Amino acid sequence: MGYIEPAPIKDKANPFESMMSRFNIAAEALGLDEQVYNVLKSPSKQVSVSLPITMDNGSIRVFEGHRVIHSNILGPSKGGIRYAMDVHLDEVKALAAWMTWKCAVVDIPYGGAKGGIKCNPREMSAGEIERLTRAYTNAMLDVFGPDRDIPAPDMGTGPREMAWLMDEYSRAHGMTVNAVVTGKPLVLGGSLGRTEATGRGVMVSALAAMEKLMINPYHATVAVQGFGNVGSFAALLLEERGCTIVAISDISGAYYNEKGINIKEAIAYRDGNKGTLEGFAGADLMDNAGELLLLEVDVLVPAAVEDVIHSGNVEKIKAKLIVEGANGPTSAEADKVINEKGILVVPDILANAGGVTVSYFEWVQNRLGYKWTRERVNRRSDRIMKDAFDKVYETSQKYNVPLRIAAYIVAIDKVASTYQYRGGY
Ligand code: NAD
Repeated sequence: MGYIEPAPIKDKANPFESMMSRFNIAAEALGLDEQVYNVLKSPSKQVSVSLPITMDNGSIRVFEGHRVIHSNILGPSKGGIRYAMDVHLDEVKALAAWMTWKCAVVDIPYGGAKGGIKCNPREMSAGEIERLTRAYTNAMLDVFGPDRDIPAPDMGTGPREMAWLMDEYSRAHGMTVNAVVTGKPLVLGGSLGRTEATGRGVMVSALAAMEKLMINPYHATVAVQGFGNVGSFAALLLEERGCTIVAISDISGAYYNEKGINIKEAIAYRDGNKGTLEGFAGADLMDNAGELLLLEVDVLVPAAVEDVIHSGNVEKIKAKLIVEGANGPTSAEADKVINEKGILVVPDILANAGGVTVSYFEWVQNRLGYKWTRERVNRRSDRIMKDAFDKVYETSQKYNVPLRIAAYIVAIDKVASTYQYRGGY
């Protein structure tokens, strides 16, 4: 089954601690001024609202919603909206800060934000979710705005919710404002290339890192954990560039084929099989899905959930390169061992930033009132990802630190120096 051995308790830092532990190391390496440190670690705005919604059965339920703007130093803040039962203000705060660093590392002119509503969308009707989304948008009319704060989808939300958000915001302003949100359906001003953008960025950063390690993509073996949006596109695009994808996995289990899995076939199978790889015949089902992480491959792409590489399994990892498609797949405890073992890790805030990059392009196109071709989107996002990788790599050499810390250094340095130019009160 797709069971992954859970991380030991000591690896289970809350997201805020886990982000701050890396932030602190980078701030120290950079010699960040203590006053600026205090500015950067505190979110600039937190808004919490109660949203009374009439449910389909006539009852009224009150939902709790949040939006945290961590920073708008580089520009309007950007970040997703999550609909889940475990939405909690502390976590939203951590994820908002994460967005600040992610946007800064790829050098797009956005600050960071995150939002969430504590609800279980799977138990709600479309009408209930629509009313909830519109009520939340209405409560956040003073927060959102194409020049202020630009939401996007996250867990539990997608193009449908973004369309309602855009419509509600537009009604309140008496005009169509499609640049207030990204991740919209194509017909409402979504961008070509957005669906595959994160997986594509994973591919670009993986190839850039392989070049540094002198791994020839045509001789490289790859294992990808998670076969959803990020994992399947990363696998497909790496295969197109010559790599042999020997293992893939999803919630149904891990699948191994020494000769290489035909990723197009695997995607077609998944799409015709209710979204899972269960029963996929193009590879052998592994006895233990967690073993995918321990395969002797050149490149490992964790693209499922957080904390899968932890102190309990890190010693046994044999990949030469790890490219983090998922957010937070490596615990801070495991990081130390990985560095000792000399495995190169392209960190999440860099590797999976292709998504936010193309969201930025969506906003740019909306503001231009123009539509770019897929080729233009891909070419420009590839360039941004490659430049960001090179900058982080150079920084890691200069400070003699792992790429993760280097990515934080690049991001913090950018935000801190912009803050110093802009000044405060
Ligand atoms: P998704 O829901 O499309 O896919 C997730 C995949 O992981 C599915 O194949 C699921 O079956 C699999 N999975 C879940 N639990 C698993 C387990 N225990 N073992 C093996 N496989 C498991 O999600 P996604 O959009 O591809 O996101 C994946 C990760 O990438 C998340 O951490 C997400 O936060 C991050 N991310 C996504 C984007 C984006 O644009 N979609 C951008 C940045 C970061």
